[in-house]
Amino acid sequence: MKQRDTATQAQGCGRPPEVAESRAKTTLFARDGAGPGGMPGSSASYEQRPITALRGVGESLAQRLARLGVEQVQDLLFVLPLRYEDRTSVVRIGSLLPGMRAVVEGEIQLAQITYRRRRQLQCSLSDGSGFLTLRFFHFSAPQQQGLARGTRLRCFGEVRRGPQGLEMVHPEYRRVSGGEVPPEETLTPIYPLTEGVAQGRMRALIAQALHELDTAAVRDWIPEPVLESLDLPTLRDALRYVHRPPREARLDELAAGRHPAQRRLAFEELLAHQASLRQLKRASRTDPAWPLDDTEGVAARLMAALPFSLTRAQARALSEVEADLRSNAPMVRLIQGDVGCGKTAVAAIAAARAAGTGLQAALMAPTELLAEQHWRSLSEWLHPLGLPVALLTSGQPARARRSALEAIASGEVRVVVGTHALFQEGIEFSRLALVIVDEQHRFGVQQRLSLKEKGSKLGRFPHQLIMTATPIPRTLAMTAYADLDISVIDELPPGRTPVRTVVVPEQRREEVVARIVQVCRSGRQVYWVCPLIDESEELRSQAAEETAAVLAEALPDIRVGLVHGRMPSSKKDAAMLAFKAGHIQLLVATTVIEVGVDVPNATLMVIENAERMGLAQLHQLRGRVGRGAEASTCVLLYRGPLSPLARQRLKVIRESSDGFEIARRDLELRGAGELLGTRQTGLAQLRVADLTRDADLLPRVQEAAELLIAKYPDHIAALAARWIGTGEQYGRVG
Ligand code: ADP
Ligand code: MG
Repeated sequence: MKQRDTATQAQGCGRPPEVAESRAKTTLFARDGAGPGGMPGSSASYEQRPITALRGVGESLAQRLARLGVEQVQDLLFVLPLRYEDRTSVVRIGSLLPGMRAVVEGEIQLAQITYRRRRQLQCSLSDGSGFLTLRFFHFSAPQQQGLARGTRLRCFGEVRRGPQGLEMVHPEYRRVSGGEVPPEETLTPIYPLTEGVAQGRMRALIAQALHELDTAAVRDWIPEPVLESLDLPTLRDALRYVHRPPREARLDELAAGRHPAQRRLAFEELLAHQASLRQLKRASRTDPAWPLDDTEGVAARLMAALPFSLTRAQARALSEVEADLRSNAPMVRLIQGDVGCGKTAVAAIAAARAAGTGLQAALMAPTELLAEQHWRSLSEWLHPLGLPVALLTSGQPARARRSALEAIASGEVRVVVGTHALFQEGIEFSRLALVIVDEQHRFGVQQRLSLKEKGSKLGRFPHQLIMTATPIPRTLAMTAYADLDISVIDELPPGRTPVRTVVVPEQRREEVVARIVQVCRSGRQVYWVCPLIDESEELRSQAAEETAAVLAEALPDIRVGLVHGRMPSSKKDAAMLAFKAGHIQLLVATTVIEVGVDVPNATLMVIENAERMGLAQLHQLRGRVGRGAEASTCVLLYRGPLSPLARQRLKVIRESSDGFEIARRDLELRGAGELLGTRQTGLAQLRVADLTRDADLLPRVQEAAELLIAKYPDHIAALAARWIGTGEQYGRVG
């Protein structure tokens, strides 16, 4: 199960002792006895009861709970356990093993303060089958007295190897007078937490909410006919089960999220997202947009002037885009296509159509480098047709920027290229009719929506075209991008020779370096992508600098250049231009060159630490070579030993050059969350559902979403409130 919020944390063995203590006091082996603050009346009032209606919940606790998305009593039921512990039976001390989390019971044989490194209380517990050390670093005087010799304790904690045999550090414990208290009857849920709400408190609150569930049902928003065909438990049974799995429940099945109760909740969660996104799509199609008729015929002239003819797949995607653009409802279309399939040309023709209608188009790229490259391509194509293209980046001189902004505001410039940051700063367009976003995988639903609102003018909304080089399988795309129409370009322009990929251990680096010399001597160029040693751009840039220096020294006859994320954009730009012009033969780079960069003369790419990179990223990087007619090679350098997973992943990338196939395998190997990236879609916040594991539910989720929209539209908001949360719902951004 996934966490909802970065502020939440699972309570693991590394928790601070303060938390462990408070937990011990309030909840160890407590039964679900905490009664409700008041009897709820109808189910409607139950659903709308604020969390403060519960006993013991005041304003400050309510605020902390809000961080977990809990605002109403009902929300507590949907705070789902991250995992479970089995505390249903007492384990004999003699049969404990390191790493176990277990309940034990015994008598304290010895309790003493010791000073091994720091002051601590150490107790020796025995049940006749063996001895266990309990170690406390934080303890009060009354606690110490309560742990005197002869006391019977029941403890729960993680067993580890200590200096005197097995031990538990800061176990949860309570005093017992002799085995009469039965252990827990159900598996113990471990909930996601937020600061100031300890595990024990969370359990007690959820116990109250569950108690109310006995007397007032939560409303099942899934229509009866859908439920009947599903063969899954009712919502109420599913909730009871996940919060209180019986002791015979299979922990492995629960951990894998495959129990029918979990599937029931996953179905509902997916439905909540799917129905909201589809409803959003419908609503946005009723907004007015400019129909782009291209009265000046610019698109046709551009097609005629391009140095190539479109591939069949490009032509098909273009005709879908053009049909949308001619309509007076705003297009929201995603073009999925592998690296190098020629998405830019399709985008350029769409932009030409806007310009040819006397309106404006803006193209946004994720990095300055890419913005500049797009600007160059578009200028090359559109300038000869009498259409200047403006460039806006944060790195450009103030004066150039000012004059570009003026030309955009006056409508003198009809096509604008810039970075995503472009739209964060209110740019005044004269009449913006089309927004093109490159590399959607860094772009979420909310961003799309705010873009649309910002672009609206005179009551019209701009068309949106989103291009992504991260191909994802169809069912996943339909779920994750349910608010978009999708076009696929599944064909590369002719004349490309597939890239040969080889996987080489770090020890053979010398050979690889020798290979660079050969390639450069034959007039070709080389990329060297530096290791992904760290998440920080600073350290990566540093590593790139060092690698460039080492390679330059080893290869005195070769002109070595460097590009990394910390360089000022003018320097990056200069290096890229020099590489494109052939002045630089070997370009050492960080993964900043990942997307879009186009240098057909480069025929060798070396990627260091390939075992640490995602498949999508490797595929993207590799797409930088093999852009011309010459055969290209991609060398994946790895540092062993490889884990079985890493080995499999490198095999996938070596054997396949099809982005969709790679994405499918990546999905199998890693799961959808990773594939989509955490920020990509609202679906990244899924709580129970998992797009890979629950893929078989998707077709029925889609059917059910249609049914809700057609017959039960009011259920959608209720489901969204339950699963997506008020702050994050897909909707108009004000
Ligand atoms: P991507 O889809 O990865 O953004 P690009 O749009 O950068 O791909 O295109 C890759 C290269 O292929 C560019 O040099 C582009 O000019 C060229 N190209 C695009 N379409 C065609 C085509 N139909 N025939 C030949 N070359 C093409
Ligand atoms: Mg591109």
